[in-house]
Amino acid sequence: MGTFLAGFILLLVYLNLPLVETPKEKALKRELKNMELQFEVLNKKMSLAEKVLADVQERDNNLYRVYFEADPISEEQRKAGFGGVNRYRNLEGYENSKLISETSQRLDILMKQIVVQSKSLSQITEMAKEKEELLSAIPAIQPVENQNLKRMASGYGMRMHPILKYRKFHSGMDFSAPRGTPVYATGDARVKQAKRDGGYGNLIILDHGFGYETYYAHLREFKVWRGQHVERGQIIGYVGSTGLSTAPHLHYEVHKDGRVVNPVNFYYGDLNSEEYDIMLEQAQMENQSLD
Ligand SMILES: [Zn+2]
Repeated sequence: MGTFLAGFILLLVYLNLPLVETPKEKALKRELKNMELQFEVLNKKMSLAEKVLADVQERDNNLYRVYFEADPISEEQRKAGFGGVNRYRNLEGYENSKLISETSQRLDILMKQIVVQSKSLSQITEMAKEKEELLSAIPAIQPVENQNLKRMASGYGMRMHPILKYRKFHSGMDFSAPRGTPVYATGDARVKQAKRDGGYGNLIILDHGFGYETYYAHLREFKVWRGQHVERGQIIGYVGSTGLSTAPHLHYEVHKDGRVVNPVNFYYGDLNSEEYDIMLEQAQMENQSLD
């Protein structure tokens, strides 16, 4: 019997079980259990926060940053700064060290990700503002009223020149219209030039920023002066036939980064897709230009 009891005690010692639990130990155990429970709740809440943030990050990378043509933020950038040094050393050496340090680390990563996300959103706000400016500045309407599209007389490309009588590169689009027809700024801009300029006759050059300029040639008269700010749709002058021109018309050019481009791609503000097709077809006709 004595041997049996001794063996039982040895077993308890081996299993590291307390022989007798004092009320204080009981209370501490309860408290510990409660703390573990609290950590569990905390971790569940963090899981939820992580999920919400992951969703925001996903939209940020795949929608907002794509829309504004910014590179997505990589996983490494979003989670950077948590390798190497063990910053949770002070939490080591206790029974619940692992739980506490893992929870702290999780929270730190979450906070860091929120900072990165917040910076990205501020950047997007900036880009949105700039995009708005770009959208109002970029040439996007026809320079004269042209509802039935009959005024577009000659497109961009090689055309027979009416005065020089040989095929010459036509660097813009001709809109035939009666003398005095209003000419509109095709986007928000600053007037870079409003004066007589050789074969162009009376010429207005608008600087839209973002590398865009538009030219309005052969005008009868100006309604703006150099340095003035104009808005899309504002009357800047009137159709005429000054300079090297055979009949009243507006010669319209679009320049991007110092080079002429085909204006046909810059009427999306006032042409629907069918109208655009008609315009495109007319613009491609190998007719004679008016200047
Ligand atoms: Zn022309």
